[in-house]
Amino acid sequence: MTEQGYDVGVDLGGTNLKLALIDGAGRIIERSTVPTLAQEGHEAVLGRMAEGIRQLAAAAPGGAVGAVGVGVPGVLDMATGVTRDLPNLPGKWVDVPVGPILREATGYEAHLLNDVRAFTVGEHALGAAKGAETAACFAVGTGIGGGLVTHGKVHFGLGGAAGELGHQIVLPEGPRCTCGNRGCVEPLANGPGIVGEAVRRVLQGFTTELGHLAGGNLAAITPALVAQAAADGDEVAIEVLERAGYFLGLAVASTIASVAPEVVVIGGGVAQEAGPIYWRAMEETARSHSHVTDIDRIAFKPAALGYDAGVIGAALWGRERSGIGSRESGVG
Ligand SMILES: [Zn+2]
Repeated sequence: MTEQGYDVGVDLGGTNLKLALIDGAGRIIERSTVPTLAQEGHEAVLGRMAEGIRQLAAAAPGGAVGAVGVGVPGVLDMATGVTRDLPNLPGKWVDVPVGPILREATGYEAHLLNDVRAFTVGEHALGAAKGAETAACFAVGTGIGGGLVTHGKVHFGLGGAAGELGHQIVLPEGPRCTCGNRGCVEPLANGPGIVGEAVRRVLQGFTTELGHLAGGNLAAITPALVAQAAADGDEVAIEVLERAGYFLGLAVASTIASVAPEVVVIGGGVAQEAGPIYWRAMEETARSHSHVTDIDRIAFKPAALGYDAGVIGAALWGRERSGIGSRESGVG
């Protein structure tokens, strides 16, 4: 990217509202993070968002902000910037014209996209999938989201819903998913899935250090704690991580069969916390279940932009949609 000018990216998360000012090369020049406090209602959240955008815009050299991009956790109308449903945020987020409200409040065009698609835009433009013609990106956290890159661009599909890689069914009649299905990979391989499985085994009386490590408080068990026990050789913890990684690997194998990506990118806080045992189970399962694709040519990479992928991707998306972005940026 050789574009001049600055753009603002916003990542609307359940806990924090993250904002960043990026320059023409996608570097973060200035950032801010404020609590989302979604329980105060969308008007209050959008007020904080607008204020944050104004503050970052004021920090842009020459005040030259082109556009704003906003990643939101849920379903939206990308053409109008109206949210349809953000199920994980408290408050009422059905049919909220976030884009128009921000434009009115800040004077900048604000373009919305799903937050994990924003992560994919960021990783594709500047991170682990940089330069890929075809890529599959998974973000593993409390949920499992994803995004696909085809023909060198993020693929949005009907209504922008393409890339919901966490809702691939890997265990028919498995646990209920928040989407309504049974057996999606999400509840089997996400953070709560790992923790739930660990707690179940402690309660069943398996020999494990997990209860002890959690100080006798099962609610204190986290994916990181399971990974710590596993690293110490705790067989139960190892089994829990291998099971979750196995299910994620099945979903990755299905994705590979669908799009034959050059690179599979795995990011998100839980993927990082769950550590190498989870990763190895995922990769080995995906590779051993891929028979119709030249699996040896597919790279598996951890996400490279960390917690910044979402805000960077959102800002790049705002730039692209406002027409400032260059055709060679490869974003969109
Ligand atoms: Zn699902």
